[in-house]
Amino acid sequence: MGNRRLAAFLLIVALLVAVTGSVAQFENGRNPGVNPQPREVSNHLRKSTPPRKSEEVHYEKPTILVHDVTPFYFDELREIIAVLDDYNYSNSTILFVIPVFDTTHYGDEWDLRKHPDFVEYLHELQERGYRVELHGYAHTYHEFNCSHELANEKLDNATAMMRELGFDNITLFLPPAWAINNESLRVILEHNFTVVMTDYLILPNGSRVRIVNKEYSWYINGSQVRDRLRVALHDYRKASKEGIPFYLSVHPGPVNYGGGLEFLREFLEAVDNLMES
Ligand SMILES: [Zn+2]
Repeated sequence: MGNRRLAAFLLIVALLVAVTGSVAQFENGRNPGVNPQPREVSNHLRKSTPPRKSEEVHYEKPTILVHDVTPFYFDELREIIAVLDDYNYSNSTILFVIPVFDTTHYGDEWDLRKHPDFVEYLHELQERGYRVELHGYAHTYHEFNCSHELANEKLDNATAMMRELGFDNITLFLPPAWAINNESLRVILEHNFTVVMTDYLILPNGSRVRIVNKEYSWYINGSQVRDRLRVALHDYRKASKEGIPFYLSVHPGPVNYGGGLEFLREFLEAVDNLMES
């Protein structure tokens, strides 16, 4: 082989080595199958990393507020209590009692003193953990959107009657239709009540505590249960993430209609599952 031929041969070999090398490098970079090791390593690292703490939500048992507790709704109340008992909510339920329900339409027909069987039932529930609190006096239209004097008279009557019937630890007041004004609010707080509203509690010293208090079962039919449940659980999860206490309001009558009690049952079931997870 002459020198020129040898030089040409070496040049070709050098070119071939350079070209194959760069092709191999190119393939290594593009085709993960050629070099699987880095992926395995990263998978292994991912598996051993614990879940981030900030994603964990603490789910507290919601508080159930039963409005309009009166002998007028005796049967409806029993149905609601049966559901709440099934899910052990006696210690997480507040019964808001009306001393003389709807005097505008019924006079004193639903005065608690005329219904000792109902009062006895309330005492039984109280002994089992249910809390008995106050929901106005006669529950007439916006009855606490009234003057200082009138509010004072109604609250004195209401608390005197409740005491007479053996309920002397009343500390909460839920105004009928959420209707109060500055004058009546002052009187309610002077009576040492904490007022329950839709977005907050007002403590006797006037300060406010944020809550989420919602109702999803106002005369709903069976086909609305799924949708109402989805919204309720969204609200409950959101409140839990933000650390805000969640209250579920129900009305005897409206909740006993159509899909109301089914909604209540499914909501409590879903909440149980979230708290266990
Ligand atoms: Zn009411």
